[in-house]
Amino acid sequence: MLKARTPGAMLAAMPLRTRPPARFRRLAAIVLGGRWGVRVLPVLALAALVVLKVPAALAFPYRVDVGATTVYAERPVGAAIVPVLARADRLLAASPIDEPGLRRQIVLTDGGWRWRLLALNLHGAVALRRPFSDVLLFNRSDVARDRVSNGAAISGTRTLSGTIAHETVHLLVARRIGEWRAARLPVWKREGYADAVAGETSIDPADEARIRARDPHAPVLAYYDGRRQVAAALRRNGGSVDALLAD
Ligand SMILES: [Zn+2]
Repeated sequence: MLKARTPGAMLAAMPLRTRPPARFRRLAAIVLGGRWGVRVLPVLALAALVVLKVPAALAFPYRVDVGATTVYAERPVGAAIVPVLARADRLLAASPIDEPGLRRQIVLTDGGWRWRLLALNLHGAVALRRPFSDVLLFNRSDVARDRVSNGAAISGTRTLSGTIAHETVHLLVARRIGEWRAARLPVWKREGYADAVAGETSIDPADEARIRARDPHAPVLAYYDGRRQVAAALRRNGGSVDALLAD
């Protein structure tokens, strides 16, 4: 019957016999639990679970619950965490999208292996929150001094309280407009509004010119400029955060 087929039919049948690209075969092996997948899938699943949901799985030696906030830490946090959280919440209270008492998990690391495992490719950040997660991750944290740092000499240190406010804003924005829309916001809005609420950026104004001269595209400038752009946008629209996040 092969002879009877038209060339068109042969062409149409070809893709069925073509082996899928190696990339897809590997993906299928993972999804279906092939030889490679059997080894990798549990590791990936566990890593995703740890990163997104259960920092406690990394056996943090210290845990403190303050209201709806759970703090995991690598060093004793003691009572010093209370004023830090209180300042963060005062900053957040000034935002119309605040949800007082919102559940969140705050993970304070010393920048060591737990941070590297949780931050993965973003280990150079001062702090971060991943989509679909109420876990807020912090690099080298010092509760007593209310500081968090990524170790960089310039623009690498912020207040811990302001940074908790910043990361909580990312959570609040995602709850307000949805994770997908939040992820698609331009950087100046996403980071600018978080820093506007935090009342600070990573850049000391005295360092701005130096950083701009060295690298006009330094990522940290997006925060610095974003905060000013957000302030201007809110002045123009009568202070509507919903309008800022909508257009
Ligand atoms: Zn941010």
